[in-house]
Amino acid sequence: MPESQIYIPYRKGFSVKIRYLNPNWGVLHICSGNNIALQVNIRSHENTLALNSLINGVWGTQEKPTGFPFDVNQEIFLSLGAGADGFYLSAGIIGSVVTFTYKYAYRLPETQGLYQIYTNYANLEDFTILPHDSELIGQSIQSELETSNKLSLTDNLESEPAYLEFSDINSYKFYEVNVDGVEIITRYGRIGTSGQTSRQTYSTPEKARIGACKKLNEKLQKGYVPAIIGNRPPRPPRSLDIAQFIRLAWKPIVTDGDSSLLSSKFSGLPWLAKDEPWPNCPICGRFMQLFFQLNMNELPEPVRFEFGNGLLQMFYCCNWGCEGEVQSAVVSYGRTADLNKNLLIRLVQPNGEASTAPIPLTLSDYFPAKTIVDWQQ
Ligand SMILES: [Zn+2]
Repeated sequence: MPESQIYIPYRKGFSVKIRYLNPNWGVLHICSGNNIALQVNIRSHENTLALNSLINGVWGTQEKPTGFPFDVNQEIFLSLGAGADGFYLSAGIIGSVVTFTYKYAYRLPETQGLYQIYTNYANLEDFTILPHDSELIGQSIQSELETSNKLSLTDNLESEPAYLEFSDINSYKFYEVNVDGVEIITRYGRIGTSGQTSRQTYSTPEKARIGACKKLNEKLQKGYVPAIIGNRPPRPPRSLDIAQFIRLAWKPIVTDGDSSLLSSKFSGLPWLAKDEPWPNCPICGRFMQLFFQLNMNELPEPVRFEFGNGLLQMFYCCNWGCEGEVQSAVVSYGRTADLNKNLLIRLVQPNGEASTAPIPLTLSDYFPAKTIVDWQQ
């Protein structure tokens, strides 16, 4: 699985070789902070590269050198070197000699401060950055790069910080690396905050840049992506103030067996009016199970009169084969309130004579009754 971005320590005299397999098109960016010093667009159908720079948000004039040795069915390499006055590009078919060279003059004033290559190759089948191989760099370019290398610009390189962000349902964080001479300054934390800063000192500026790239590439592998500071607003804290949802709860204390018709209970015999038929299922028509009956006058003191007087009864169809029907409901906190139609919840007033009919015989798997005798807060 190729990486879509990679950081490479970059300076004048440095070169990198990129191997493309069956490329249709690809994009390579050489970045310094938010500026793109060089963007390379591979255009197979035109046998060319489209080259440009994005400086302070403004694109320059595109350059399109021809003669790029391109065939979508061949493996090709593209070498990039940083010379004294521009980027040196060379390319050829893998295993063959350089057949294409081009110099793209620097447009970014502080180009010598570049230390990263950022690559984007989403539409390439494969993309590999290989160590520099001088045999595949044209001789003239090679000598140019060697001359540049002797300029010894590496001691006072300045670079823009590299800034990455990671955002998902659990995390919202940034990671920034800045190289200042032999020192790496790392800043990390929650997006929108200044975060924490740590410093690390290396023996040479070159080692510091390599160390910085290593840190950045590790973060890229973890899913961080290059970003621009301030583009994402701070996210409000995810920890809800749960105090607002706190409610007192009561646990029913039960004894086995049924009690009077008016008692609070699970299962057992509900209070039904004289001659009232046993509730049946609106879906399948068969008798329903009494789930519970709560005598409102026996509820715990704080909520005793909150729901009125009478008996709160819930019947539910437990008959085999009755699936019920789920009504569509508002989604709340990621759940739908499943409003099943094969149930009956009602508040009855036990006035007048009660039914004396027993539990219907067809309710063969009726749950054993439990009487609620008390409530524990
Ligand atoms: Zn039913």
